[in-house]
Amino acid sequence: MKFDLKFDNGNTIEIGSIFCIGSNYSKHIKEMGGTKPESPVIFLKPRAAYLENGGVIKIPDFSNLCHHELELVVVIGKYCANIDKSQAHKYIAGYAVGIDITLRDVQNSAKQKGQPWAVAKGFVTSAPISKVIPSEKFDGNVPDFELRLFVNGELKQFGNTKDMERSVPELIEYLSKVFTLNPGDCIFTGTPEGVGQIKKGDKLLAELVGFTKIELTVE
Ligand code: MG
Repeated sequence: MKFDLKFDNGNTIEIGSIFCIGSNYSKHIKEMGGTKPESPVIFLKPRAAYLENGGVIKIPDFSNLCHHELELVVVIGKYCANIDKSQAHKYIAGYAVGIDITLRDVQNSAKQKGQPWAVAKGFVTSAPISKVIPSEKFDGNVPDFELRLFVNGELKQFGNTKDMERSVPELIEYLSKVFTLNPGDCIFTGTPEGVGQIKKGDKLLAELVGFTKIELTVE
């Protein structure tokens, strides 16, 4: 189905809400000229933004500056509300790599006007997500992952999720209190530094090093 996420063991799960975390790596906060937020910065993408491996990112004609943001995506497996971070691992179905495709010019204009980011962050094809690695692989731990993004074969972003300002369990604790979380919900956990422009004709390759990857083109 159009909104099914695929696991690398052949299982599928229907995508629910797509939560995204902003400003979660200090070097990225620095490159954007910001400061660490007191509470998590959260925004959402509609699930129609989802794009699977081999898909085509379609930059809308009203934007002239589209950026890649390489991110770990956490997929929720069970309903949870008001959970403690020490229990968060029990609710994770798996891990994937995603790219939070961002219309930076539209986002900057929205920021200046104090408006929401939905158009800049949520347009169709703005949420590519790879196949999902089942969490059982990690024996109840929430592992650190290395992330890499190549544009036309050139390494553009490299990071490790151990450098996140707020960890995956902390994010799940927070989201489960504010929104509750449901099976199929996805969490884009923020990008490390090195965000940059993508253009028509570019080829993107993003990976959770050693686990899964996604290849995309840009139109
Ligand atoms: Mg992002």
